[in-house]
This record gives sequence, structure tokens and C-alpha cells, in this order.
Amino acid sequence: MSAAASARQILTQLHEVMASRLHAQGKLDKVVEIVGENLDSEVCSIYLLREGMLELFATRGLNAGAVHVTRMAVGEGLTGTIADKIETLNLAEAKAHPDFLYRPETGEEKFHSFAGVPIVYRERAVGVLCVQHVDPRRYEEVEIEALQTTAMVLSELIANNGMVDEEDALGLSAAQSGPQTVTGLPLVKGLASGVAVFHQPRVTIDQVVAEDIEAERQRVYRAFDKMREGIDAMTSQAEFRVGGEHTDVLETYKMFAYDEGWSRRINEAIDSGLTAEAAIERVQQRTRMRMREIDDPLLADRMHDLEDLSNRLLRIVSGQLGTAATQGLRRDTILFARNLGPAELLEYDRRRLKGVVLEEGSLTAHVVIVARAMGIPVIGRAQGLRGLVRDGDDVLVDADAGTVIIRPAQQMLEAFDARFAKSRERAALYAELRDVEPFTRCGTRIQVMMNAGLRDDISNLNLVGADGIGLFRTEFQFLVSATLPQRERQFRLYRDVLDGAGDKPVIFRTVDIGGDKAVPYLREGESEHDENPAMGWRALRLALEREGLLKVQARALLEAAAGRTLHVMFPMISEPWEFDAAKAVFDAQLKYLKGRKKLLPEAIRYGAMLEVPALAEVLDLLIPKLSFLSVGSNDLTQFLFAADRANPKLAERYDWLSPAIMRFMRRIAMATEGAPIDLGICGEMGGRRLEALALMGLGYRRFSITPVSVGPIKELVRKVDLSQITQAMHGWLMQPPPNLRAALQGWAEQNGIEVD
Ligand code: PEP
Ligand code: MG
Repeated sequence: MSAAASARQILTQLHEVMASRLHAQGKLDKVVEIVGENLDSEVCSIYLLREGMLELFATRGLNAGAVHVTRMAVGEGLTGTIADKIETLNLAEAKAHPDFLYRPETGEEKFHSFAGVPIVYRERAVGVLCVQHVDPRRYEEVEIEALQTTAMVLSELIANNGMVDEEDALGLSAAQSGPQTVTGLPLVKGLASGVAVFHQPRVTIDQVVAEDIEAERQRVYRAFDKMREGIDAMTSQAEFRVGGEHTDVLETYKMFAYDEGWSRRINEAIDSGLTAEAAIERVQQRTRMRMREIDDPLLADRMHDLEDLSNRLLRIVSGQLGTAATQGLRRDTILFARNLGPAELLEYDRRRLKGVVLEEGSLTAHVVIVARAMGIPVIGRAQGLRGLVRDGDDVLVDADAGTVIIRPAQQMLEAFDARFAKSRERAALYAELRDVEPFTRCGTRIQVMMNAGLRDDISNLNLVGADGIGLFRTEFQFLVSATLPQRERQFRLYRDVLDGAGDKPVIFRTVDIGGDKAVPYLREGESEHDENPAMGWRALRLALEREGLLKVQARALLEAAAGRTLHVMFPMISEPWEFDAAKAVFDAQLKYLKGRKKLLPEAIRYGAMLEVPALAEVLDLLIPKLSFLSVGSNDLTQFLFAADRANPKLAERYDWLSPAIMRFMRRIAMATEGAPIDLGICGEMGGRRLEALALMGLGYRRFSITPVSVGPIKELVRKVDLSQITQAMHGWLMQPPPNLRAALQGWAEQNGIEVD
């Protein structure tokens, strides 16, 4: 009989038992008979978790008196080990295994071989199914697979009969139930606590045994098609990353998505009588088992990709496509994801979302910028999360230290609370500075403005006491919309922002779409794709070519600022003519409005962002046209170092406080010296105390930063003596020390300046 046919035979018998009117215990008793007989095993037993212990629930071959008597802790004996590690054991000689434990009441001393599989429900082991044999022999792969399939059927039975107590499922092994700490890279500092929610929820499998095998084949066939289509679309348009996946990940996805072996194995599992969902899961279990035997970090990475893809296929086949955002957050939440796009993050309820843990991520990825603006701590590059954290676990995020504590123990909670209290104290200190103007010790007024992008952000302006909005990222409205925002909607947003800001200035940056800010609806009908979106058709390049885009925005801005001062800033200017072209679009709209006798802005101040290094070479040509210049250090540094700002592998490689960046920043400051324009910085580095200190030493007097940094930077300003830091920076840039950050840190400490 073929493997599929014998598996189908077991499944058919199990199906009959499940459909019978027997009560749950009766069904378990039948199952051990069926499995024992089919695998020709003297013993077959089922252990289920009850009150935190694995209890023998049914057996064929062991002493009947041991049923509901033999109990063992998770982690104890072979059975306990299987539940603890959620792994399969296949042993020719059970007694030779270091975890073997003899229980006299069972009468199992005569059996030599042993194989067992975990019964898994919602990613937790809730029991163990095992077989034993008098002769020492290893079970064959098809037999192990039959056991795993039976375990899946059992998990359905257990779930349907309410035989798993959530408490029990939680009270599992040390790895699954005890506290665990995972470390990562602090991307947005802060502390947070909540329950774990996966951005892409795991699919629960409701039905294991197929009613109609052909129908299941069709379902999986269509799902494969759909998944491949999706992945092809993503790879050919790498900037449309769903969840911000990177090209190498996409390539691996593609390789697996088209892997014939994978689809064949799933089809074989369906042939054996499983539903499409159960077949995908079965195959995944088998791959997991095999990979575990190969100790290779590279393969482990690939396994990770395959897990993702398998989950993706499961979600397609089961129609459970929504992210956790669609389902809504019910409690304070720590969100777990491999990666996220900024728009995906914005779909979450801001009141409930307390922290984010990413397996990827970097400091200047836009999703991180958005989270920073929302005041949500983020930890990136958190490795080894899988298998440790499950939906609903309590989680503490310490994004100051870069640690994620899963299922914290009481004393950890207390220590965390104490730190929470401390950070509240610090926040109170910053709040006191809210209405205090930031003057340096030597009496220079530093402008501390904030970055924003959404209507809700405006309330932060007075809350943190910023001098205005130095960067309003208008593209955020585009990112959160399903369709292109029409002029009227743009107008209303800009007007509300200006109303909310009152007398404080707001610098509107015209749309900066592209790079990691993908807006699929703008690309419709476009045939060319950017290989390298950060350096591609983005920002002003796109806005100028799509003239309608900038024109509509110009009208909306001019109308919104009627009777007030309008500040407009153009992103990604690489050559002065681009500034002229953009300004001409505004001039034309102004003329149009004038012709219609509309109320115009009282004054218009135009500025440019310096993000492209080439512009620094020709600043002298541009400066006379400008009212202000703002350094976009996020993009600037990615171009200076040729290091993709969103690539997690490069996230820690280069330091903003490197002599290369610092000399470049100084050069820009020197080029604007004496010119009647304001120079500022609006990239993320300006919000970090040590970096801000250095920038003050280079001549920067205007900072536009994430709202949570306003307090800390104001406090810093009050401690700084500009001539001292200017002199120190000058010395270090003449002759750079081996580690500029360390030198600056030491200097700050000596001068009584606390840095992060
Ligand atoms: C920058 O590049 O530094 C910047 C402020 O713009 P964005 O982060 O939106 O690209
Ligand atoms: Mg930029």
C-alpha cells in the first residue's frame, strides 16, 4: 500500500470515530486502538495536559490502571520532553535517551522502541501521542507522519470538546511559559507594556480531515496561484513592499513559492485525506523537524522565510487575510511583526498600541519615524522571537535597553514599574520646560521645532512646547489613503493644521512619495519600476513630472494659508533648477488665484531640503533664492554612505557622529554663514542629545525633531555653552579621534551634560 493510501486509511477511520456519537473519552480510546493497529505497535498512548501536568488519558498496551493515574510534569521523561520542546522523538531504544523516566505502574519496561509527537493547539503543546514497541526499531517516516496527522485530528477533537483549559495551555514548559528575554536594537526609546499581538495572526485550523479531496486540491492550487502572483508583483515592484520586505527576502520567497517539491508534498498530504490547511501545516511541521536536525544559521534564516510563506499560503487558503489591525486591538498591545510599512502601522488604534517589536527595522525607516512621532517605543532586529512569544502573552518592552521581556515574573514587573515611574518623573521635568524658551547658557535662542505628518500630531505642538512645525510630511495623508487625496481633502488638512498651530510657523514639505513610502495608486498604469527606489523616481522628481500632483497641492496650500504666512519646502532638490521648477508651479497657482480675486497668503517663504549630497556643491547658486534650508539627514546620510536607510543589516553599521557626516554637516553650515536664510535640520539625528550637541557645535541653531524629543533637547540646550562645544567640535574635525562618539560623550560628562 502506498504511503498516501495507508495514511488515508488511518484518516478515514479517525474521521469515522470523530463523527461518531461517542463521548470524548470514548473517542480517545478508539484512537489509540486505530493508531496501534495501523502502526503495528503494541502500545499507543495519549497524554493530555490537565492542571499543568501531562496525564495519561488513553492507552492500548500499558496497564489500564495507569489511565488518569500516571501524570508527569512538562519537561519530565520522554513524554514531558516532547511537550516541552514541541518536538518529535523517534527512538529505537527509549531507555538510552537521557530523559527516559521509568514509571512502574505502566508496565512499560518490556518495550524498547518509542516514538512520540506533540499535540499542538494554538502553537502550544497540549498533549502527546506516542507509540511503543517490544522490538528495538526506529519508526519509518510515513509512520511518524501518520502520528503527526493523528495528533492534528486530536487537537481538533480536544478543541471542539473544550478539553484544553487556556490556563493549562499557558502553564506549559519553561521555554513557553516562563519569562523570556529577547534583545534587539532600540529604534524608538521608551518603555511599554501590553499583550502580544501578531501583525499577521496565525491561522487556526478548524478542520483537519477533508470531505472532498478534489475540492481541497483545487483550493490549494488556487491559493498557490494567488500567492505567486502576489510575490511576483512584490518582487517586480520592490518598493511596494507589503510590510516592507526587502529584496533578498522577496527573492527567497519567490524561490520557495515556485518550489515544486513544496507544492508536491502538500498535494500528497491532501491525497492522504487532509484539508488544504491541515496539509500545509503538516508539511510545515515536517520541514521544521528536518531543519531542527541541521544546525546551520543560514538555513535557519531560510526556515524563517519558509515559515512566513507557509503562513501566507495558509492565510490565503483559509481566507483569513486581515492583519491584526483589521480585527482591532482590545487591550494595551505590543505589536510583533517581521516588518511593517508606515501605512500599516497607521492602521492601528493609537490608544491601544503601546509598543512595536520588529524582526527587522532600522532607525530611519519610515515606519520607525511614524512610530517615533506617535511616541510608540520600537525595538528592531529582535532575533529568535519565534516559538517564544505567543498571542496574548504579557510583554514588557524596554526600548531604552533594547530588551523585550515575555511573560515577566513578578519582580521584573516591579522593577519595570519603578522605571516607568522614573520616566514619568523625567517626562514631568520636560513638561515643566514646556513654556520655557530654550536659551543656551551663553544666551543664544535655539529653535526647537517638531516634525509632524498627521492631523492628530498638531495637539503635540503645545503639549511639548515646540516652536512650530519644522517639517510637516504631507505625504502621510497620501500614505493612509486608499486613493489619491483630492484637493479639497488636502486643503482641509492644511487649513486645520494651520488653525491648530495658531501663531507658530508650519513648514509644509511637498509630497515625498517613493522610496519606502510607496503609494500603489500613483503607480497604476506605469510600466517602469525602480530597481532602487530611494534613488529613483520619488519626491519632487515624481511631483514635477506628474504636474497635476504638485499643482493640486500648491493650490490647496495657497488657499489654506489665505491671509497668513505660508512656508513651503521642497524635498530631494538635487540641482537648483528643480527648485525653480517647483516654485514656478506655485507662482502659476498664485497668479491663477490672484486673477480670481481670492484671498492670498500674506507672505510665502520658500525653502529646500538638502538631502542629496550634490546640492552641497552648488549651494551658493541656490541660497539667494531661499528663505530657509533644512538638512534632511536621514536621506543625506544614506546617500553619503551609500547605505539604504531601510536596510536592517546596515542599521548599526555607520554612525551619525562619524567625522564624514560631521564634516559634511559643517560644510553646509559654513556655506550658509552670512546668508540671510535660516538653516535647520529635520532628520532623526537632531532629536538625539549627543548628536544635537555636536550639531550646535557646527553652527546649527534650528532643530525640527520628533515631538518626544522636544523636551529632552530643550533641556540640553539650557546646559550648552556654544563657544565651548564649537571649539571642541572644531578640534575633533581637524583631527578626528578614533571614536568621535566616545570623545563627545566624555566631553559631555565632563561638562555636566547628561546624554542618552
Ligand atoms: C530626511 O530625509 O532626513 C527627512 C527629514 O525626510 P524623510 O525622513 O521624510 O525622508
Ligand atoms: Mg528625506
